[in-house]
Amino acid sequence: MARILTGIQSSGKPHLGNILGAMKPAIDLSNDPQNESFFFIADLHSLITIKDPQTRIDNTNAVAAAWLACGFNTEQNTFYRQSRIPEVCEMNWYLNCFAPFPMLANAHSFKDKSDRLSDVNAGLFTYPVLMACDILMYDANVVPVGKDQRQHLEITRDIANAFNNQYGEETFVIPEAQIGKEVMTIPGIDGQKMSKTYANTIDIFQADKPLRKNIMKIVTDSTPLEEPKDPDNDITFSLYSILADENQVEEMRQNYLGGNYGYGHAKQALYELILEKFAKERETYNYYMENPDLLEKELVKGEEKARVVAKDVLKRVKSTLGFI
Ligand code: ATP
Ligand code: MG
Repeated sequence: MARILTGIQSSGKPHLGNILGAMKPAIDLSNDPQNESFFFIADLHSLITIKDPQTRIDNTNAVAAAWLACGFNTEQNTFYRQSRIPEVCEMNWYLNCFAPFPMLANAHSFKDKSDRLSDVNAGLFTYPVLMACDILMYDANVVPVGKDQRQHLEITRDIANAFNNQYGEETFVIPEAQIGKEVMTIPGIDGQKMSKTYANTIDIFQADKPLRKNIMKIVTDSTPLEEPKDPDNDITFSLYSILADENQVEEMRQNYLGGNYGYGHAKQALYELILEKFAKERETYNYYMENPDLLEKELVKGEEKARVVAKDVLKRVKSTLGFI
């Protein structure tokens, strides 16, 4: 049996990149009866960027509702908010003392975000250590994530191996990353990696009108309507290709190459496809967002289960370090 673990930060509303890159593949794995899954909402991580409590609570509920909307089975698995298992903060200190400074300073995500954000705090710097705690605290074997998290998984493995080697015993289970081959990094409406913190996301749960308005903002070049267009260098086409079936993709490719087909037409097709593909998810999401007490019930149920494992692993670490 493998223990699967993955999380989404509540740094914004969940988006198409989170859903295709992390949630759907993770839920597929969780449906295998051989697996046991721990899926959580990384609300402590989101404090790096979100300082307003109500915004963070709203985002946390949105991420939780998205997991349920995408079909996560909370009866068989464990579903929780990171902050409700405060043992992770104690573990964070221990592992901070095993995380080499240059390794954190060289992390791509830190370099990238520290260039863009005005608030470059120590939490941003030590983000990968808290992530290592999230994973190691629950003895996870497999961590399904998007390609952007590959390096953070390597950091987790390095910290765990260093710890195990130093103490000559297997305190930590060494996790493996699982990165879907087809779904790599989903581009945002500006062509960079779709990210909650870059304000370039497509929120598939938005109401029809704002969703359409947002899709119409996808950046394009200025090729006139009547001229042929290059499908292989266009964000709308690339998003459409990720969601559509082969025939639909081929049809749109021919439209691009043939001319007299505008980017507005392609965006409209993408919008309609999203409404069609995610109809059920949109309905379930709205149901949970309108019934926050049901969400809360789901999360509290999972927190009790998660805490049992976290306490046990923390005890193992403290005992190894001589703190018990
Ligand atoms: P932030 O901007 O706060 O870092 P994010 O949008 O990058 O947020 P995370 O919470 O960091 O989302 O990531 C949650 C999961 O979603 C991770 O497994 C990550 O690899 C995956 N993911 C995030 N963005 C994308 C993307 N554009 N394409 C594919 N997977 C993604
Ligand atoms: Mg991210």
